[in-house]
Amino acid sequence: MCRSGSRQKIFISIIWSNAPMRLVIHGIVQGVGFRPTVHRIARSLDLRGYVQNNGSNVVVEIDGDGDMFLRELRAKLPPLARIDRIERQESDDGALDGIEGFIIVPSKEGQKGIGIPNDVAICDSCRKELFDPHDRRHLYPFTNCTDCGARFTVIEDLPYDRGKTSMREFHMCETCRDEYSDPDDRRFHHQTISCPQCGPAYQLLDREGNVTNGDPIAEFAARIDEGEIGVAKSWGGMHICSTMETIPRLREWYGRKHKPFAIMVRDLKALEAYGFPTDHEVELLTSTHRPVTLIAKNHSKGMDWASPGLSNVGVFLPYTAMHEILFHRLDADAVVMTSANVPGEPMILDDRDVLSLGADSYLLHNRRIVNRCDDSVVRSFDEDTHFIRKSRGHIPSSIESPFKGRAIGIGAQENLTAAIAMDGSIYPTQYVGEGDSIGVIEFLEQAVRYQIRLLGLDSLDVVAMDLHPGYSNRRMGKTLGEEYEAEVIEVQHHWAHASSLMIDAAEDELIALTLDGTGYGEDGRAWGGEVLHTTFQELERVGHLEEVPLLGGEKAVRDVGRLVFAFSELNGRDSDLFKEEEAAIFRKMMSSSLLTSSFGRVLDTLSCYLDICRYRSYDGEPAMKLEALLEKGKKSHEFEVEISNGVIRTVPMFGQLFEMKGRREDLAVSFVHDLLKGMLEIAFEAAESSGTKNIGLTGGVAYNGTISRIVRDEVRRRGMNYIGHDNVPNGDGGISTGQAAIALSRI
Ligand SMILES: [Zn+2]
Ligand SMILES: [Zn+2]
Repeated sequence: MCRSGSRQKIFISIIWSNAPMRLVIHGIVQGVGFRPTVHRIARSLDLRGYVQNNGSNVVVEIDGDGDMFLRELRAKLPPLARIDRIERQESDDGALDGIEGFIIVPSKEGQKGIGIPNDVAICDSCRKELFDPHDRRHLYPFTNCTDCGARFTVIEDLPYDRGKTSMREFHMCETCRDEYSDPDDRRFHHQTISCPQCGPAYQLLDREGNVTNGDPIAEFAARIDEGEIGVAKSWGGMHICSTMETIPRLREWYGRKHKPFAIMVRDLKALEAYGFPTDHEVELLTSTHRPVTLIAKNHSKGMDWASPGLSNVGVFLPYTAMHEILFHRLDADAVVMTSANVPGEPMILDDRDVLSLGADSYLLHNRRIVNRCDDSVVRSFDEDTHFIRKSRGHIPSSIESPFKGRAIGIGAQENLTAAIAMDGSIYPTQYVGEGDSIGVIEFLEQAVRYQIRLLGLDSLDVVAMDLHPGYSNRRMGKTLGEEYEAEVIEVQHHWAHASSLMIDAAEDELIALTLDGTGYGEDGRAWGGEVLHTTFQELERVGHLEEVPLLGGEKAVRDVGRLVFAFSELNGRDSDLFKEEEAAIFRKMMSSSLLTSSFGRVLDTLSCYLDICRYRSYDGEPAMKLEALLEKGKKSHEFEVEISNGVIRTVPMFGQLFEMKGRREDLAVSFVHDLLKGMLEIAFEAAESSGTKNIGLTGGVAYNGTISRIVRDEVRRRGMNYIGHDNVPNGDGGISTGQAAIALSRI
């Protein structure tokens, strides 16, 4: 229905406000206790009629005072519900015939849309029941209600009814059915209702997979306290769990020497011993989304084992009833809770697969996980939220786009997500994984097909993928294109970053500092330190860092010493990092290696030269460890920054650095500061000639707080608008959103 049409209908309904009317309510109105609330209000107002889930919407038909009803509804909206739009129509003749009082009628397949909520952390009322010895759900690990619990991870399809969730395998007991049917009960029409008599249950398995006796969570907690490494199944996946003291053994066992682990902490009070969250970080930690939140850490209590060499650590608070019970049983105030996966594969879902991990014990339950969903990971910058990973608790979500049409962006390779654009909104999938393993690509396809089904997407105009010819999701992109007879286009990686920032900030033109590891450039080279003038229609590369050879390609990313060698060589200096035979080989490779303008590689070089980190064992490690140093430094040295034809010369900057003496934290800050100022000079010039005042920062490097601060302050000092991320991930998790927007703007 067009908008003017619905306005006309509102006019009519105001005149005859007591005539039977039909309300079609759009928004997050399913799975959030919406129908029960409507039911309660209608009965309190003595209205006759019905409420029904219809596709992804809710339909209400009533005879009586509709204005009063809507006022009440808005005032008493359940906490998770959100009304985006209401269509008011006249009822068909006889629509309410035969209905007495107010009823909830069975759901109907109708127009779809992602009107389902995210998984929501356990609410206070449920927590109270959980620890009340007289409550029938005392210590029941699946306690939840219309206001909280798993949603996205258990819902198979819409409309949202128990029969379309993984709870359909559990039959409500009589007591649960009574609660479900009682309009005065807080679980009235709660679709995933259950209790110890009828719902899913946990079991504890030992190393061999044998079921152990006794209370599974209590026993698991005791074993973790004693130093075992356990696996715990949650809503959307499985976590590896251990105490802080066990981390050294965990690292050995899991083969992860340095990669940071997320830590689950008992509560805010206990968190004080582990780190120093700001007010905004406390807000993020205690939100119903319960993301893993990076906070400044206290370098004691095993926190240096949790994130070696970093100044921050990812922590989160319990979000399921099982987590609450676990802490109730544990002596420890904090435990490692990191996604259980085989390296390069997505998080494990299957109970049998997980046994192959070789953990000491497994706390598993018998409810199927419909949608795998890793924990979201966020970082606060000012009052903005930088999403490192947007997933559990934050998906589904949507962001407005200025384009109608229908498109899918299938992302890049790292931090992989896809995004579907439909009717003016873009819907990203949950985080899918890293790299190009078959498991990751299969999961990408599942996640896309799920969103397609939920949205009822029956046509597609265009599929967008990365320009990189070697990315393994391209085949899926082509298949989707053929299936929907949609055009398939390629979008340059950094343009997609800049576009994701434009969507995030609702702007349509930017000068974007696009800084990351590497992405495939329009000239076939590895871009990554770019000053781009972008709209959704056009990309202009107005400046970039000097190109330097990546000696041995990927090998230079893992042994950053090769980068130091290249910068030394280009300055006519010897580097003492390699033996002469190796150095001789590298010298020959200087002219034949892939060239890169990557900002991330410059940070890596600094990290190695300043003796912070030479070998990368996880994505971003040298640069992340450099950040801990940057936070402690002061601007102390001046670098002469040469710029010619939009190229910022990093080679002579390293030449100067190699001759400088001083505290390494100050050298690092001075180098990064002057390099960014060089890039910003180009940005300001481009802004002036194009008439925009928007200067943005995007790409994986934008997670670095010191770098974001330097750019933000300089941009504002020059009287320009600083544009940063707050919703779409800064890094490659946002690529698919940017791709989808560019794709639509082209048709
Ligand atoms: Zn609850
Ligand atoms: Zn029950």
